[in-house]
Amino acid sequence: MYNHAPENYLCPFCLLIRGIENAHTYAMHTDIVHHTPTVTAFIGSHQWPNNHGNVIVVPNEHFENISDLPLHFASPLHELVKTLALALKTVYACEGISTRQHNEPAGTERPPPESWWVQKVSADSTAD
Ligand SMILES: [Zn+2]
Repeated sequence: MYNHAPENYLCPFCLLIRGIENAHTYAMHTDIVHHTPTVTAFIGSHQWPNNHGNVIVVPNEHFENISDLPLHFASPLHELVKTLALALKTVYACEGISTRQHNEPAGTERPPPESWWVQKVSADSTAD
């Protein structure tokens, strides 16, 4: 439903979860901070390199957008987003936490899809 990925699209997050590191993965295996059979979290060093409190959470199977995400992935994914949000708040003593997930091009989704972002927000850093 509402899919637009090009044919033969190689998802960089799925490559990373499978242990592959190359120019398409945007992250390295050492960036992974949490991995379970259903979800993985890693430091989002590519998009906002100056925001050290930036973690990306993905399901371990590829789903292009939230309308495709089964609830048995959604529940552990959101549980991890909540845990990471509280951890960032504790570690950075930041003023707030921002979480986001984009769907379809009009929703500012650019490949790769299926990710949830958890970021610290402080006066001295930017979330965007
Ligand atoms: Zn994927």
